[in-house]
Amino acid sequence: MKLDQFPRHQLTFGPSPIHHLRRLSDHLGGAQVWAKREDCNSGLAFGGNKVRKLEYIVPDALASGADTLVSIGGYQSNHTRQVAAVAAHLGMKCRLVQEKWVPWDDPTNDQVGNILLSRMMGADSRLDPHGFDIGIRDSWKEALAEVEAAGGKPYPIPAGASEHPLGGLGFANWAFEVAEQEKALGVHFDTIIVCTVTGSTHAGMIAGFAALEDLTGIKRRVLGIDASATLDKTRDQVARIARHTAELIELGRDLRDDEIQVLEGWAGDLYGIPVDSTMEAIALGAQLEAMITDPVYEGKSLAGLIDLVKAQDIPATSNVLYAHLGGQPAINAYHSLWDPK
Ligand SMILES: *Cc1c(COP(=O)(O)O)cnc(C)c1O
Repeated sequence: MKLDQFPRHQLTFGPSPIHHLRRLSDHLGGAQVWAKREDCNSGLAFGGNKVRKLEYIVPDALASGADTLVSIGGYQSNHTRQVAAVAAHLGMKCRLVQEKWVPWDDPTNDQVGNILLSRMMGADSRLDPHGFDIGIRDSWKEALAEVEAAGGKPYPIPAGASEHPLGGLGFANWAFEVAEQEKALGVHFDTIIVCTVTGSTHAGMIAGFAALEDLTGIKRRVLGIDASATLDKTRDQVARIARHTAELIELGRDLRDDEIQVLEGWAGDLYGIPVDSTMEAIALGAQLEAMITDPVYEGKSLAGLIDLVKAQDIPATSNVLYAHLGGQPAINAYHSLWDPK
């Protein structure tokens, strides 16, 4: 099927806004930097990139006759908060497995931010001591079995909605949305920067922009900035999901290696733990643009963008589009990074 033939259940407001980051661009002294804001893409509990992915998964969930969405993430998972939001919006139940993905021992880590919002929206959110892994986990298979044993009908949504067969479609469509907005703005974005962890955001973009390239002949660089700190797994997962999504939307060719680029250098040693470049990027975004980014994801991809623009790896003649994927609720659990000394 072509992309526009897949059923889509609208959860976003419509196209997410794109705007110029003038002060950040001036400060960096190179390429013009713009942002496309998935952090304000929906009225459902602050939105984010997972809401966009879920637009293509919800029709399948509804068709299955399920009454409970079941998903998994870290204590401060943005993804599970967005699944809880969509469940509330649809009148479904929600069961969440929240694992200890990050060795961040702030006592509020399992109380504030995303997990608080999920609880407020009525999700059955339970803590699990397992550590970080973007793959399929036993703990959430057990959650599925529990829902069934209690007489419910679960619908499984894996971590980040990435290992779901339809997980890449939301951001394949994002590429076409960008192309429409470019016409209206009179700007061409030759480089896209996106944070990559479970992979289907970046992978969906790769498939979507490949389809656009085949239609228009226009090439762009879609650069994933790794924030998983498990680079090989994330690279494999991005490549696999990109190829799968390309096949789903009938791209009709294999993806080239140069279309699949996950860059390392900004994740630090561990998922969820910021490093100096993360904190500097967060401060720049906040102080020059009042654009709030988080220490887990967007601060790391913004750090990548800043270095690539400064080093003119992204040339000064470029217009670069920063995909802001959300994540602000988690900053509450990281308050100590900014507490007065
Ligand atoms: C999930 C998430 C990402 C990573 O997206 P993947 O599709 O998992 O690679 C980046 N930023 C934020 C804010 C997220 O919630």
